[in-house]
Parts: sequence; structure tokens; C-alpha cells
Amino acid sequence: MENNYQKIEMIYQGKAKVLYSTNDPNLIIQYFKDDATAFNAQKKAVIQGKGKLNNLISEKIMTELNHQQIQTHFIKRIDDREQLVKKVKIIPLEVIIRNFSAGSLSKKLGIEEGIALAQPIFEICYKNDALQDPLINDDHAVHVLKIINQDQLNQIKTIALKINKILKKIFIEIDIKLIDFKIEFGLDQNQNIVLADEISPDSCRLWDVNTNNKFDKDIFRRDLGNLVDAYQEIANRLKINTN
Ligand code: C5P
Repeated sequence: MENNYQKIEMIYQGKAKVLYSTNDPNLIIQYFKDDATAFNAQKKAVIQGKGKLNNLISEKIMTELNHQQIQTHFIKRIDDREQLVKKVKIIPLEVIIRNFSAGSLSKKLGIEEGIALAQPIFEICYKNDALQDPLINDDHAVHVLKIINQDQLNQIKTIALKINKILKKIFIEIDIKLIDFKIEFGLDQNQNIVLADEISPDSCRLWDVNTNNKFDKDIFRRDLGNLVDAYQEIANRLKINTN
């Protein structure tokens, strides 16, 4: 089945990825674009090479998560730009885990960036461009928006914290501090909660343990230098062959 699929048509055009249907209703193709956006797409650029690096880095991380019994949508990488993934119905929540203060948390609470947090902090944002993905609480998700039920939200939190443990280990082994990251989940045809989307330097904050240099999308958001060189460094440290 997984070797016998055909790309049919575009079903979704996102900011950094495109999804295509296949002849199998349970499989789709996820294509990584070179487009970069920030601040709800107010800042935009095309950064040659970014899509391929995110595809390869996300493949490596999703493969490790699959090995560690986290259910993900990832099946296999097809080529430099594409992955074959399970079709899921995306839950419109951006799930964020933070190990150190940074970004919107620092801004909102007036805390300098890079302070170790007493425990991993779980946040959810409502995935809605028109509303600029607002931070919401459990009751908003369950009882106002009715996106999911409380049990599903509890499951998401448990899975997200497990993923955090695995990612922290992957990154500390290559001298990178996992400051925070954003993940998305979907429901498969049996209503199982499945990790979807990507995990890459676009969706994580990654700082060198010794220098605190950034190897993530803040380079683009804050004009800090060459983004592709930074993502390439992450790929190199993860021993990913990018030739
Ligand atoms: O901006 P903020 O501090 O809330 O971001 C937390 C984490 O979530 C960062 O790693 C950021 O890259 C990621 N994020 C994302 N997509 C968004 C918002 C945040 O990948 N739309």
C-alpha cells in the first residue's frame, strides 16, 4: 500500500507546506516549501534550501518518536521535498511546550529570555489566522470552542510532555538546549490522537548550550543572520546526510 500510491491533487496550501491527496484515502503527501513567514505572515520571504532541511530534520525526529511509541502521521520521506503521511483531521490547536522563557511568554509576562522554567510549561493556542492564534485555556478549548473533549486534551498534554522528554534528549546530545516548541495533533480514522505537521527549526527554539547562539526561525523573525546555515548546522549535528 505504502509503495503503491499516486499523487492526485492539492488539498491544502499552508504557509510553509502544501498537502496533496493520493489514490489512497488514508495517505497524503506533505510538501515542504522554501517559504518563511512570521508574525502571522506579515513578514515573508523565500529562503532557498529551507524546505529540504526541514523535511530531513523532521523525518529524523518523527522517526525517533515513532520508535519511542509516539503515534505520528509520518510514514516515510519520498524525496527532498515530500513525505508520505497518514491522513488525519487536524485539531485546530497549537500545542506549545516551554523549558526556558522566550518569545511570547517573555513578552507577555515581562521575563527575560533564557531563564530555566521550574517545570515544562504547557500552552494551547487556537489555530485561527484571523484571530492571530490566541492563547486559550482548557475551558475555552473544551466548552467554548468545543474543539475536543477534556479527556482528549488531557491525552494531548500527556503526549506533548512525553515528546518534550524525547526531544530534549535528542537535542542535548548535540549540545542544543530545547527552549520551546510547537506541535499539532490530528485524529486518525479511528479517532486516535496522532502527532501531525512537522518538528523542525521552524517550530522549535534551539540554542547552543555553550554560546546560546540561535539555530531556529528567530533568525528570520529577528534578522539575526543566515537561516539556512543555522538549519544546516542542526542537520549536521544530527548526522543527517543532506547531499
Ligand atoms: O512565539 P512563541 O514564544 O509563543 O512561540 C513558542 C514556540 O512555538 C516557538 O518555538 C515558535 O517557533 C513556535 N511557534 C510556531 N508556530 C506558531 C507560533 C509559535 O512554530 N504559529
